[in-house]
Amino acid sequence: MVSREREEKMAATSALVLFSGGQDSTICLAHALARYDRIETIGFDYGQRHSVELGCRPKVIEALRKKFPEWADKLGEDHVCDLSVLGDISETAMTSETEIVISENGLPNTFVPGRNLLFLTMAGALAWRRGLKTLVGGMCETDYSGYPDCRRETLDAQELTLSRGMDRPFTIETPLMWLDKAETWELAEDLGGQKLVDLVIEETHTCYLGDRTHRHEWGYGCGTCPACELRANGYQKWRAKVPA
Ligand code: ZN
Repeated sequence: MVSREREEKMAATSALVLFSGGQDSTICLAHALARYDRIETIGFDYGQRHSVELGCRPKVIEALRKKFPEWADKLGEDHVCDLSVLGDISETAMTSETEIVISENGLPNTFVPGRNLLFLTMAGALAWRRGLKTLVGGMCETDYSGYPDCRRETLDAQELTLSRGMDRPFTIETPLMWLDKAETWELAEDLGGQKLVDLVIEETHTCYLGDRTHRHEWGYGCGTCPACELRANGYQKWRAKVPA
């Protein structure tokens, strides 16, 4: 019984963060580190054209450990899951060298159908095995590309599906859901001060084209793809609000 109680307590104070190496998921990771005692991370290799993002993951984790000693001991195992099958079944601008355009249905052709659903199912399966009940993800429907699997109502349904399907009460936390990109930068500052803002600028990657040769005040990227535009606009809006 004691071990059962201990298991319950551990599940309540720990979480699995869906961590891509991008700006949003890095801020989610910081959010979880400030809130929980033990954190594990999971990332997905699905043949994304900006695979440079995956390369940023260990660097971000390393930088978090170094610059935030109070968080270092909380950072547990990091898992990378091969989902290259996603590239096999979907021809999109996210997984191939196609020009990024808005399709007739109003979605950019970077949309990979079912991507987040698959990510959350894999994360749920891992969390089940690792005794974790809380999944944390950077999905957001304020400043976003209109991906339907980033909407909270989709995630509510997925939470229910995972909980029923694995017979365990899963929670999907989305701390960025109702924040715009300027407020996301603000959250980074609230969580870890300028030190965290600098880490996000230097170490995280958002650009769809995988460009890490151009350095802007908001970080690295081509500066013109939809992901760079969102990141840049959010940064400028946030900087305009705070006194230098
Ligand atoms: Zn870009």
